[in-house]
Amino acid sequence: MSTLFQKLEKIVSKEFISNDLYVRHAYSRNVNPVLQGVPDIVIRPSDAEEISEILKIANKENFPVIPRGGGCCEWGGSIADGNTGILLDMKRMNNIINLDQDNLIVTAEAGISWGTLNDYLSQFGLYTGSLGPGSGLTASIGGGISHHSVGAGGCAKYGACTNQLVSLEVVLPTGEIIETGSQANIFSKFPFNRFGNGPDLAGLFCGDNGIYGVKTKVSLQVFPRPSFAAYKTFLLPRKDVEAASQIMTEIRRKGIDVYDTIYMPQVIVGTGTPMGLFPMWEQLKRKRGILFYTIEANSEIELTERVKQLDNIFLNKKAEELGPELSDGNFAKWQYENPWHLYHNLWGMVPASEPFTAECFTPINTLPELFIDTQAWENENKEDMNQISEITGNLTILSGSGPIAMIDGNNVEYTVGFNTSNSYHDGKKYEIIDELNLMLWKSLLIRIFKHGVQYYMFGTLPSSLMVEIGAYTQEYYNLLKSIKKILDPKFILSRGKFNLNGD
Ligand SMILES: Cc1cc2nc3c(=O)[nH]c(=O)nc-3n(C[C@H](O)[C@H](O)[C@H](O)COP(=O)(O)OP(=O)(O)OC[C@H]3O[C@@H](n4cnc5c(N)ncnc54)[C@H](O)[C@@H]3O)c2cc1C
Repeated sequence: MSTLFQKLEKIVSKEFISNDLYVRHAYSRNVNPVLQGVPDIVIRPSDAEEISEILKIANKENFPVIPRGGGCCEWGGSIADGNTGILLDMKRMNNIINLDQDNLIVTAEAGISWGTLNDYLSQFGLYTGSLGPGSGLTASIGGGISHHSVGAGGCAKYGACTNQLVSLEVVLPTGEIIETGSQANIFSKFPFNRFGNGPDLAGLFCGDNGIYGVKTKVSLQVFPRPSFAAYKTFLLPRKDVEAASQIMTEIRRKGIDVYDTIYMPQVIVGTGTPMGLFPMWEQLKRKRGILFYTIEANSEIELTERVKQLDNIFLNKKAEELGPELSDGNFAKWQYENPWHLYHNLWGMVPASEPFTAECFTPINTLPELFIDTQAWENENKEDMNQISEITGNLTILSGSGPIAMIDGNNVEYTVGFNTSNSYHDGKKYEIIDELNLMLWKSLLIRIFKHGVQYYMFGTLPSSLMVEIGAYTQEYYNLLKSIKKILDPKFILSRGKFNLNGD
């Protein structure tokens, strides 16, 4: 047993540390089949003080540390880079610390999931507004804030979960513990506001993908859940992407308060329905794109007025309303009543296949050009995709766009990627499939980058690609690196992301 292991064991006790091979392998992947990083040690701290001690030792020994929440990153963000390091599993830190019902702020440990937190809040008629990522039944609030996550529900109204952030407790890479926002003032008794006391230092850790510090406590605004809700689903006309984009833009132009508006492109409806994923759309003669809205209101009158305004927009664009019940095709009802379920169902919707995503934020009106280019990308890469099909016999290797949710501003979370086979087939591993998948994935990521989109849940692969292809201005990247050097002179935390390796 190494001396490093012994030193760490003293901090958390035997029960919460392991270097067993099977444990290390259990933490070696996220949800994609090609990126793997086996850590040397897995450790499960109970509080910020323990994390501070761990980081101080890691600095002395010059040993990398990777924070991991729910481990649901799609791009290998919470795995060891280069098969080395201490993996910090945050899921033991899952307590709710305080609900300030007067000021509508909840404070919880960073390892709690969005689902558990909202389950607790529902007892008080409250919710976090934006319900975090679609993976929020497992994904943690610390992971969500590290990614600017959005998508589970409420994102057209409340935007990315970082919009609701009030204050953070963060352990810096060298072990110091800080609190942001109102808590920067030692006389403040409880978190109440993010902005003030100088620059927005919480912002430094929002979407940082775990490079600038370990989030240990998160304070979020909470909101009373309105008592009235409506949800409707529409079948789009033939040019569905243009229609969806125009309807979403019109909703914003008219300033109508929607809770969610989500577009299910034709590829999802057309491929998923025959596979049994969407039984409520089986009766549709034409399996075209679907667009749905959900709204919330504090009175029946307010609700009725808004439904009228929204229906006008949809019907003017020749969208056809489906019936009110789920069995009539009203997917919106199901989505509103079952937050966090939408993306789980679609993950790997083609049997025996894996999705590689290039999800990003982009303005609503860029959707049509992105769709055309994704199709062009698939056509250009057909030969490589066919090579995989020939080995596995899986003919449904295809690219396309998943559910596209309206978020804050005039933007959408653009879900795009390709479904493919993984390298295990008929009891054998085909290295060539991993190579092809990785090559295709990089090529799609770069292709989408060049539309000027924003990636937000980076992982090592896309963040390094962004640096390698020169997508950052030199001045911006220098600043990113200088901040890293000040906070983490030995590049201990999340080494490798954004190509920050210490050189
Ligand atoms: C089925 C499915 C659906 C998904 N849907 C969405 C979606 O709708 N929207 C979306 O944004 N994403 C989605 N994702 C991607 C991902 O799950 C989310 O981005 C989620 O927020 C990640 O949280 P996590 O706790 O699992 O983070 P992890 O994967 O554990 O970590 C993510 C990153 O944050 C860092 N990190 C984690 N915790 C901390 C901490 N306490 N302090 C500092 N750094 C930390 C890690 O090092 C890593 O870089 C989905 C994934 C799946 C599998």
